[in-house]
Amino acid sequence: MATLSPLLKQATPVVVDHGEGAYLYDTDGRRHLDFTAGIGVTSTGHCHPRVVAAAQEQVGKLVHGQYTTVMHKPLLELSERLGDVLPTGLDSLFFANSGSEAVEAALRLARQATGRPNVVVFQGGFHGRTVATATMTTSGTRFSAGISPLMGGVHMAPFPFAYHYGWDEKTATDFALRELDYLFATATAPGETAAFFIEPMLGEGGYVPANPEFMAGLRERADEHGILLVVDEIQTGFGRTGKFWGHDHFGVQPDVITIAKGLASGFPLSGIAASAELMAKAFPGSQGGTYGGNAVSCAAAVATLDVIRDENLVANAAERGEQLLAGARAVADKTPAIGDVRGLGLLVGSEFTTADGKPDNTTAQAAQKLAAERGLLMLTCGAYMNVVRMIPPLVVTSEQVDEALEIWAGVVAEVTK
Ligand code: PMP
Repeated sequence: MATLSPLLKQATPVVVDHGEGAYLYDTDGRRHLDFTAGIGVTSTGHCHPRVVAAAQEQVGKLVHGQYTTVMHKPLLELSERLGDVLPTGLDSLFFANSGSEAVEAALRLARQATGRPNVVVFQGGFHGRTVATATMTTSGTRFSAGISPLMGGVHMAPFPFAYHYGWDEKTATDFALRELDYLFATATAPGETAAFFIEPMLGEGGYVPANPEFMAGLRERADEHGILLVVDEIQTGFGRTGKFWGHDHFGVQPDVITIAKGLASGFPLSGIAASAELMAKAFPGSQGGTYGGNAVSCAAAVATLDVIRDENLVANAAERGEQLLAGARAVADKTPAIGDVRGLGLLVGSEFTTADGKPDNTTAQAAQKLAAERGLLMLTCGAYMNVVRMIPPLVVTSEQVDEALEIWAGVVAEVTK
């Protein structure tokens, strides 16, 4: 018998038998409240009956119909349905499987469309683990350790992470935009810069929302210099933040968005959306792949969009998100060990700090472990892995949020006493 690679290490000891809604059931029959949602993927809850039915029906009709060979109905239907929810003007779609592939597709499009070699990413951003996207990822050194030489042409500018700088939001934003201009003067001239790649809220980097002034600053510079604004909505899209898109919080128009995770309730599917005019600038043959836009994944995605609409999941994410954020803040108010609680919608992070204000991943990870023992599954994130993050499915109920907060309050009291 083969053994599992240590690469498959888990944050919790749970071996899952099945899932239903916001709960996972392990092989010993124990129930766990799942505030990880497969890292923000199973937004409609585990095994939503409508998603399951759509996928089952599609499996019996067609599993795979590679889209550069033949087109299939679920992909056409999904494209049409995404048209109802995509930002204005982004009316052309390309599909892949994973988030990293979508970011790479956006990178190829940006370089080909502009003829420029460089891209600017923002400190603390996460865009994937392929060599190109790991190069673009700065939310922790571990993602690109030992794999050099990395891809060329990637430049990093600051993100307005006010809490880390110890500044207010305005000072952090002014600083970040000034540094971006300095980067243009010293490292990548605007005329050499194809695109900005920005998450509306740092995800893996510690759950840090951007702000309207910062996003407007990027848009202004993009317009002035013909740089593309690529918004990575992989973790923040499909209602996760309490608005349909993460960037909807900031009133900014992207040129390209990347999508994945919440799109298909756990079936592998990702993509990019851009204007037809921009998409037409991709070089023929350079975008594609064997499995992208899988028929079963597309059918599941159509059902996912139906559920998001019919069950008002965006509004639920906003309401339950406020409840969760307020509850997590109330827990933090009782201890100096949690220095900051941040979030948008159902992405809520509690940052653990030592008494002298340093990142405290030991306590954060102890809290995450103890919570898992008590039936609440969560993850950590941030450069130091000292932010405990809650990402329940968008179908989470008020009672389930209370249930999680009660466990969380007990866990925090225990690990900080
Ligand atoms: N971009 C963002 C914003 C993400 O959160 C992630 C995954 N955490 C990715 C890209 C990469 O997605 P994948 O793991 O599917 O390649």
